[in-house]
Amino acid sequence: MGDASDGTNDGSPPLPDCPTCGAPVAVVTASGPHTGSASPCGCSVPPDLLRRGD
Ligand SMILES: [Zn+2]
Repeated sequence: MGDASDGTNDGSPPLPDCPTCGAPVAVVTASGPHTGSASPCGCSVPPDLLRRGD
């Protein structure tokens, strides 16, 4: 019990979960307008998965 200000994740932004396998997705490589590949799990995901509502 020390710092109560920032206890959980400091420095690392929360990663979205892969809609296919549920693994945290660090990078999405877009291979088409509606197709992308998640890394590191490698599943096919929408290329806008990492976008935050804009
Ligand atoms: Zn996956």
